Amino acid sequence: MSLREELLVQEYEERKKPRGFVYFTDADGQVVAKTCRGCGELKYAKNYHHKNDGFGHLGPYCKACISIRDRDYYIENRERVKRVKNAYYYRKKAEQLSFNLFENNE
Ligand SMILES: [Zn+2]
Repeated sequence: MSLREELLVQEYEERKKPRGFVYFTDADGQVVAKTCRGCGELKYAKNYHHKNDGFGHLGPYCKACISIRDRDYYIENRERVKRVKNAYYYRKKAEQLSFNLFENNE
């Protein structure tokens, strides 16, 4: 049984918004499940981080998507830091080299 069927069986109300965004609310109008903006999967509210100004007080991305995003960000940054360090190293090396050439010419 899919999560959608599971929610319908529990008599939560299915609501639809444009662009395939689906969410379910309980009798109090609380969001119990919604579609993740990242992976597009319908997931229980507990799979989202709390966000005061978010839809249903939930963040737009599920926890799985956030951890992937964080990891990508970390990888991105690590690569960037490496590049910056390399550029510095080669610049220093080049400076040293031109200095040595200059010294030898004297
Ligand atoms: Zn997701």
